[in-house]
Amino acid sequence: MLKFSRVKNPTFFIKTFGCQQNMADSQRIASFYVSRGYKMAKSIRSASEIVINTCMIRQTAEDKVTGLVKNITKIRQPAEKPKIVITGCMVGMATRDGTGKYLKDLRKRMPQVDEFLPLEEVGFDYPALRQDVTHSWVPISNGCNNFCTFCVVPFTRGREISRPLVDIIDEIKDLARRGAKEVTLLGQNVNSYGADLVKKNARGYKLPSGRIVKPVIVKHLGRFRIPTLFPYLLEEVCKIKSIKTVKFISSNPWDFSDKLIDVIAQNPKIDRNIHLAVQSGNDTVLKRMNRWYRAKEYLNLVNKIKSKIKGAQISTDIIVGFPGETEEQFQSTIKLAKSADFAYGYVSKYSSRPNTAATKALGDDVSHKEKDRRFEILDKLINHKGTIRTAVH
Ligand code: SF4
Repeated sequence: MLKFSRVKNPTFFIKTFGCQQNMADSQRIASFYVSRGYKMAKSIRSASEIVINTCMIRQTAEDKVTGLVKNITKIRQPAEKPKIVITGCMVGMATRDGTGKYLKDLRKRMPQVDEFLPLEEVGFDYPALRQDVTHSWVPISNGCNNFCTFCVVPFTRGREISRPLVDIIDEIKDLARRGAKEVTLLGQNVNSYGADLVKKNARGYKLPSGRIVKPVIVKHLGRFRIPTLFPYLLEEVCKIKSIKTVKFISSNPWDFSDKLIDVIAQNPKIDRNIHLAVQSGNDTVLKRMNRWYRAKEYLNLVNKIKSKIKGAQISTDIIVGFPGETEEQFQSTIKLAKSADFAYGYVSKYSSRPNTAATKALGDDVSHKEKDRRFEILDKLINHKGTIRTAVH
């Protein structure tokens, strides 16, 4: 439980690392602080309490946090030492790690930290404190059930929990009244939104329109899934007149159903830039990553999206140097990237993350030099078209 400040007129400053989901969380954390009588400080130098919202996606993200904590002590005089609070993914990992080892390690790495704040203490109930509503991020779910073997998210954010659909619509209606024109729906796997809500009710989930969505099992991209509410949520958001653009991030190839494609095709308000992480173009690597599709199925999905949704562009995430990735397997990814013709892609070098299956079972055997080489090739192919096509063969 976060302790109240003993300082007269306490102020806070939040430094956020990582993705848009973390940015949106920081807006709720700000509201949490304001509700406890704090005022927002203009800079890290003047705050009586500094909150660092952390990311763990790669080791470099963790290193930035430890570096900042050390720097705070340098930029502030000992007499005016602020209270330092750590929250976000690093604390999520510490609270879910039953051994207590990770928390012990955090305390050792950052003895200057006064408190560790689990995000659950903030919850979804605090309204986001937004400086500008014109474009607003709206979290629709938190956590992930997919356990890709390289990914730390299920360990830092826990299992997927969807916000009630009505709460999301009410928040967006309120934003629209305050002048919002564009919203981005956020979640680790937005297109599985509501699968947990549907599952809880055998008779189905009642949408605001009165329509019941029944929990019928469907087979999609090789796995049995229950239908999600995401297409219906998009339809409801599109009905809000003054909202002109609806974006969402991140979506995954599974759960990208025909129904979802149809809803996007029929609603011009929905952004045509679709982010669809592939991670690898090789079936063996995909299997070891616990991604549930083959490269061919992914490409078929990309083609279907492009043919049914006018103007659709696909962007992606790819990891190079996943444990055991051979040159031949890397070449399959190059082949896929050429076929998919991505608008852009976030290429990253594999980084071993604590508690993940890849770290426990697969090691980290591709050298830094080789990861760098593969990164250069793929990044240039996807993001600097025209300058590399001759270099990759
Ligand atoms: S779906 Fe995304 S967030 Fe979930 S485990 Fe896989 S990579 Fe991580």
